[in-house]
Amino acid sequence: MKLSWRVILLWTLPVLVIGFFLWQGTFGNATGELGKNTASTRMTYGRFLEYLDTDRVTSVDLYDSGRTAIVEATDSQLDDRIQRLRVDLPMAAPELIAKLREANIPLTAHPANKDGAIWGLLGNLIFPILLIGGLFFLFRRSSNVPGGPGQAMNFGKSRARFQMEAKTGVMFDDVAGVEEAKEELKEVVTFLKQPERFTAVGARIPKGVLLVGPPGTGKTLLAKAIAGEAGVPFFSISGSEFVEMFVGVGASRVRDLFKKAKENAPCLIFIDEIDAVGRQRGAGIGGGNDEREQTLNQLLTEMDGFEGNTGIIIIAATNRPDVLDSALLRPGRFDRQVTVDAPDLKGRIGILDVHARNKKLAPEISIEMIARRTPGFTGADLANLLNEAAILTARRRKEAITMLEINDAVDRVVAGMEGTPLVDSKSKRLIAYHEVGHAIVGTLIKAHDAVQKVTLIPRGQAQGLTWFTPSEEQGLITRGQLKARITGALGGRAAEEEIFGSAEVTTGAGGDLQQVTSMARQMVTRFGMSDLGPLSLESQEGEVFLGAGLMSRSEYSEEIASRIDEQVRVIVENCHDDALRLIRENRMVIDRLVDLLIEKETIDGEEFRQIVAEYTHVPEKEQYTPVL
Ligand code: ADP
Ligand code: MG
Ligand code: ZN
Repeated sequence: MKLSWRVILLWTLPVLVIGFFLWQGTFGNATGELGKNTASTRMTYGRFLEYLDTDRVTSVDLYDSGRTAIVEATDSQLDDRIQRLRVDLPMAAPELIAKLREANIPLTAHPANKDGAIWGLLGNLIFPILLIGGLFFLFRRSSNVPGGPGQAMNFGKSRARFQMEAKTGVMFDDVAGVEEAKEELKEVVTFLKQPERFTAVGARIPKGVLLVGPPGTGKTLLAKAIAGEAGVPFFSISGSEFVEMFVGVGASRVRDLFKKAKENAPCLIFIDEIDAVGRQRGAGIGGGNDEREQTLNQLLTEMDGFEGNTGIIIIAATNRPDVLDSALLRPGRFDRQVTVDAPDLKGRIGILDVHARNKKLAPEISIEMIARRTPGFTGADLANLLNEAAILTARRRKEAITMLEINDAVDRVVAGMEGTPLVDSKSKRLIAYHEVGHAIVGTLIKAHDAVQKVTLIPRGQAQGLTWFTPSEEQGLITRGQLKARITGALGGRAAEEEIFGSAEVTTGAGGDLQQVTSMARQMVTRFGMSDLGPLSLESQEGEVFLGAGLMSRSEYSEEIASRIDEQVRVIVENCHDDALRLIRENRMVIDRLVDLLIEKETIDGEEFRQIVAEYTHVPEKEQYTPVL
């Protein structure tokens, strides 16, 4: 409706404008009967006087209260043929009349036509009126369109910002790898489909379910699947859309949303990113945000305002349950929490199966192999991975996706787009030493993940990359593994120092050092892996609110703070020494590997290990391979 009105207006306005000019043509000058007597040729007043003086004028008709004259004159150059010419007369030319009389030229004055005058007036007014009216109308209309320019004009009224899908078309079959969550949510489908089963025995149907999990794990998808399975409409809004420029808008949006939902019950309301509105009230420096609090209060009021058996179920999603206001989590509100975690190997296989349904895979591709290559990938990453692979396949004009495209797509999803290789230069050599430094340290330390490949082809931000075989997250990481990771991360910088000297080290190690520091710090403050003893000195989460960093400082004394710094330094220094030693002891093989890397751009892990084994003992890695 809205759109079609705009279209109509868009078309009618130009038509009106053109119409106006046509109208002006016929009626606008209707103050005389000029219309009927129009003379197309014009003549200047001076020329007219000249004609008068040479007796060539035969008659004069005056229009427009004497401002315009149609002059009949003979043209000497054209056998004295009669010409009709139009002359614009200067105002007040009484001597002209006298002159005409004197010359005895027939003079007719045409009075203004009263009727025509009114039409003329209307003609002159109608355009501005239509224009203003049209603009007004357009403005009102456009302000109804979400995000339209008129938004600021009606902040008192809320404009629905939620989407409604009558049928989501998503089923539980489309969601994989989150079996526990699915089991729990199947019950919600039953609440929506057969509430009487629960109310008959006096059970109170829960109103809200909170889905907790990192981005891309399928929370939105799950919510849609619930609506799809239950066959009810799906209302969705993002928490950030509640929080608007103007105070009170968020609250009235909540009201609107619930009003619409009640009209469509049974239905499902999905609030994404609920932490945007649902944060702990009054938290952070400078107090809370009034607008957000109002919105949150309205949400709580609405949730209290209906009974569970009205057939509305609210599903909210967040990856920060720790910041939510406790009032939201009370019984009768979001009293159920369902965790949606990144999938394990089996889960990844399931998700890949779902997304491979509509893709052409070469027969040699094994979904399990892809899943093994992608620990830590979320559902969204995996969907993206298969899509990238399909795009690459199309670009390479192949019939079906092969393992080659899958591997390239994994690299792209993990590290970004491939850049153009560096030209040979000193800096390319330095990068080669840096990467081989990481790789050799990683290879020679038993507790480190195995090298998968080393490459000098830039990707994303990185100039060169060393890939390690990703290990399936086992949950627990030992102190030895952490130290190995720190040492490996320092391998790049250590190689730069050892080969080029401390004056030549580059900024390229910045990212490595950041990781190193953060790992070492966590060893001291969170995992009790230093001489400070088994103390937890920092809370798990990072910055929650503005100013949280300032406040958490007071958890321990200044003295402890400086001892933490000391311990972090000790860990990093020890690891740095180890890395330097490994580089120094293996200088020969490093030089050979660097030459090979510059020549080939990429060395894979197997070849790398074989070359290193010619010079020194390579420890066997314990690879944890989950069984299905
Ligand atoms: P979230 O809401 O948790 O951030 P989404 O539900 O928006 O994640 O997931 C984005 C996309 O990733 C989905 O549309 C789907 O294609 C894919 N996806 C994510 N998780 C899964 C899953 N468990 N099973 C199948 N596909 C998934
Ligand atoms: Mg989402
Ligand atoms: Zn590095």
